[in-house]
Amino acid sequence: MKILVVEDEQRVAQFIQKGLKEEGHAVDVAHDGEEGEYLGEINEYDLIILDVMLPKKNGFEVCRELRERGVGSPVLMLTARDAVEDKVRGLDAGADDYLTKPFAFEELLARVRALLRRASESKSPILKIADLELDPMSRRVTRAGQPIRLTTKEYALLEYMMRNPGQVLSRTRIGEHVWDMNFDPESNVIDVYVSHLRNKVDKGFEPPLIHTLRGQGYMLTDEAPPA
Ligand code: CA
Repeated sequence: MKILVVEDEQRVAQFIQKGLKEEGHAVDVAHDGEEGEYLGEINEYDLIILDVMLPKKNGFEVCRELRERGVGSPVLMLTARDAVEDKVRGLDAGADDYLTKPFAFEELLARVRALLRRASESKSPILKIADLELDPMSRRVTRAGQPIRLTTKEYALLEYMMRNPGQVLSRTRIGEHVWDMNFDPESNVIDVYVSHLRNKVDKGFEPPLIHTLRGQGYMLTDEAPPA
């Protein structure tokens, strides 16, 4: 999943970013309210973790303005200790949940999982292309009923491709969604991961689902890809 963290305290931001990356998420970090609002609007995040006390624009304003512009990403607010008023204001501004600082990473992770689960339940429960199935809730992947073991990054890449079947996915687009905004589209990391994925998902099965479109990128489809 793709997550935006809006937090001005470097250490907290890095701690959250590192932990979420280890869980296989793509994480962008914004260091003030304006940058957070900008990134939240131009990118499609599966979740936004938004601190309340931010330079330039506070978390309430950022959340309210994102909602006004139709951004529906779930928002988890990080509020100051015991500030009941903050919680109410956050929810009023359109946040989905809040977490009081300081918090243990496990607690953050539990909230993140719950919000992502809620969001993916409201999308489609199980993703299917031909006989390939991916369950975002359990993260279970099968092809023709056989379980396929994927690393967290391979899983994230496959989920992204399965959410966008039949579409040309350029390396830049994949990089932005599955890696993060600092991803270098010139690197061959994506090609390496696609090749791993192909070995696990397509090898020994028919028809092939992962297609390379020369000079354009990749496409997941069970039909013949465009020449
Ligand atoms: Ca802060």
